[in-house]
Amino acid sequence: MTATVIDGKAFAAKVRGQVAEHVARLKEVHGITPGLAVVLVGEDPASQVYVRSKGKMTVEVGMASFEHRLAIDTSEADLLKVVHDLNNDPAVHGILVQLPLPDHLDSDLVINAIDPAKDVDGFHISNVGLLGTGQKSMVPCTPLGSLMMLRDHLGSLSGKSAVVIGRSNIVGKPMAQLLLNDSCTVTIAHSRTADLPSVVRQADIVVAAVGRPQMVQGDWIKPGATVIDVGINRIDAGTKDDGSPKTRLVGDCDYDSCAAVAGAITPVPGGVGPMTIACLLANTVTACCRANGLAEPE
Ligand code: NDP
Repeated sequence: MTATVIDGKAFAAKVRGQVAEHVARLKEVHGITPGLAVVLVGEDPASQVYVRSKGKMTVEVGMASFEHRLAIDTSEADLLKVVHDLNNDPAVHGILVQLPLPDHLDSDLVINAIDPAKDVDGFHISNVGLLGTGQKSMVPCTPLGSLMMLRDHLGSLSGKSAVVIGRSNIVGKPMAQLLLNDSCTVTIAHSRTADLPSVVRQADIVVAAVGRPQMVQGDWIKPGATVIDVGINRIDAGTKDDGSPKTRLVGDCDYDSCAAVAGAITPVPGGVGPMTIACLLANTVTACCRANGLAEPE
């Protein structure tokens, strides 16, 4: 069997197109421009890349982009003041504080200072609670993008057996919650799980969010299962012509062996990654509509 490749890049482009249409309508009909503010503390190279690409795509779909780049030694009080000002700024409908924060800053405190209605990352404790009780919330972008791909590929997820590998607050736990809300039978696996391969082998749906390059092997996968590879890992890939080291991105799944057994699989890059930013933009439009008492995008 060779798996169908779930093209996250194309799907994300479609979602961004829908967001752009909604933004255009909000501007034309209601005179409202959705705005997304991104706060970056320090100069972590990966975070800088993410923030740049978020800003670029925010502008591309017609929204207002606000970037706040703060020095690495910014105090907690100063960062909280920035968050507070954004909470009170009517032009800002979504606020994202780029993680990880430098060690001297308390991430939980900062995230929980964001107005939950503007918490487009869905990490505020109120949104976590709302999602956990099946109420309307802001849903974290990476799990939301993964769920959208699963629904698009499989239709109803009801009754399916799902294994989520990883229990982080930003991916594993909300992913499991979303699958449960869609009536899957969900197992959450982690570093202490006994005999992980045989746990994974039970699953119709496997979501790998581990951060270990190519860990999940093809012989762990039930034939025909749908595999969502959330992992983004940079590994060595020999040397360039000029002798400098070369790297490449891989997921948490060993792509070739998994694709030989699975029914469908997301590639890395080009799978979950692009969907994450698309969902961030979609969440900002949702937040804007809710703030203005307008119908939300479906
Ligand atoms: P974390 O490091 O926060 O969590 C990793 C989880 O994997 C933990 O729950 C850990 O278990 C579990 N784990 C670690 N080793 C093993 C193992 N050998 N067997 C089973 N479980 C294990 O990572 P994140 O959730 O933040 O990210 C996971 C991956 O997803 C990373 O590669 C990250 O780069 C990527 N990512 C991709 C995004 C995208 O847009 N596509 C967005 C966010 C993340 P325990 O709790 O027991 O330690």
